[in-house]
Amino acid sequence: MEMRIGGNESASPDESRIPVTNPATGEVIDSVPAGTPEDVARAVEAAEAAAEPWKKVLMRERGMILFRAAGAVREQHKDLARLLTMEQGKPLKEAVDEVRGFANILEFYAGLSSQQAGDAIRLGPAGDCMVVREPLGVCGAIIPWNMPVLIAGWKIGPALLAGNTLVLKPASTTPLTTLRLGAILDDAGLPPGALNIVTGTGPSVGEALVRNPAVRKISFTGSCGTGRRVRELAGAHTAELTLELGGSDPMIVMDDADIDRAVEGALRGRFYNAGQTCTAVKRLYVHEKIAESMTRKLRDRINALSVGNGLGPRTEMGPLASSGGREVIARVVDETRESGKGTVVAGGCTMKGKAYEQGHFYRPTLVTDVVPDSRLLSEEVFGPVLPVVTVPDLATAIREANRSSYGLGASIWTQNLAAARKVFDGVHAGIIWVNRHLTVPPEVPFGGMNESGIGRENGHHALDQYSQTKTLFLGW
Ligand code: NDP
Repeated sequence: MEMRIGGNESASPDESRIPVTNPATGEVIDSVPAGTPEDVARAVEAAEAAAEPWKKVLMRERGMILFRAAGAVREQHKDLARLLTMEQGKPLKEAVDEVRGFANILEFYAGLSSQQAGDAIRLGPAGDCMVVREPLGVCGAIIPWNMPVLIAGWKIGPALLAGNTLVLKPASTTPLTTLRLGAILDDAGLPPGALNIVTGTGPSVGEALVRNPAVRKISFTGSCGTGRRVRELAGAHTAELTLELGGSDPMIVMDDADIDRAVEGALRGRFYNAGQTCTAVKRLYVHEKIAESMTRKLRDRINALSVGNGLGPRTEMGPLASSGGREVIARVVDETRESGKGTVVAGGCTMKGKAYEQGHFYRPTLVTDVVPDSRLLSEEVFGPVLPVVTVPDLATAIREANRSSYGLGASIWTQNLAAARKVFDGVHAGIIWVNRHLTVPPEVPFGGMNESGIGRENGHHALDQYSQTKTLFLGW
């Protein structure tokens, strides 16, 4: 891995480095160079120089490097997870899951390295064709702060296995674990220039990467607004695009559902990572026959959640990743309460007490009787707030579920296969879970419809999207 992360050393220290702050304590735990467009240009040059030799490395050997790196990540998972918790805030258990998830992804793609075949097309006496897949060349990856390790894996695994080289920009607030993972891949045998990590801000490093005409594909995960900007800039030099722009996933619970299981599903679906997950349960539609009992159980479970520093042994939910994120959540909840567009039945305020003073904590919140035009339903609310809507039947639930510009995921909780099938056919989303929500293993293609984005990550689908076909036509 070629590290091209140097900032302008002649500038004042404040400008040349970006501090990384622990969202639970407000402490600065480290800093990274504030990369510049020139750093990006050098990283892209290094990736270009490495592209041809890396493409020639046998796919099996590329897979072996990923496999060795996955082993090292597993060995070091405790340290990596601790660092992730310190820079992002999530509970240690979730950080361990995420780091192991990164190893799972590398192993999955390593496993595909011996299964790559092309197509042969017989054209009769006139000729035959052989179709193979080739890498795109230099690719760019832009990573958000909510699941920085997992999302980096979704891009690094398929891009490198397919034979591309990569320039990756982590979010400014969560670069540390990613840099460590880069070093692990380096030690596992990745040649210089194959993976380049440039730390720095979106407008400086991110835009320079997207604008660079040598970058043949951009894979971006983040907000809709930035996604639109990325699309515009990358389109100017026709780079291929994968955009994962978030969601407002509905969870539908029918009257025949296992309520306790659905309560746990909603709890994990919404409050995992303090609600900062693209496929979090952002809207809960419950059948009127079970709404009262489900809401009561949910309220009790939510009030009992242990909130604190992610390093604490009993912590079930950490702080939000930034003070700005917490302000947005507080504003949306206050507006809902004041306008009468919902009833706050749990949480609805910041955490009180000395242990919470320096961090970006917000109480896990449950809002019932939410009206359709509430911002809780119409926007992607990226924090620990669960809005509940009561519905009389499945048809209404499906109609309300589709009342969103997003289309990332959705779930139906029922014992009735026909109801599940109706949701699968009727709800616009890239993935429909039945009696599950949130889980996306490496084998499963992941991506959204409508405003949720373009393209798919994970599975062999991602490998296809990091490569292009090339055809040999044999005329007899
Ligand atoms: P952004 O989309 O701004 O950030 C995501 C990544 O893009 C970061 O690495 C960021 O860098 C980078 N970036 C920012 N501006 C540019 C640019 N002009 N060109 C290229 N790259 C850029 O998301 P925010 O952090 O502002 O989050 C805002 C909201 O977006 C959240 O509240 C949530 O609703 C949604 N979101 C959704 C995510 C998902 O999983 N789909 C993930 C994150 C956010 P830097 O860190 O330096 O700003």
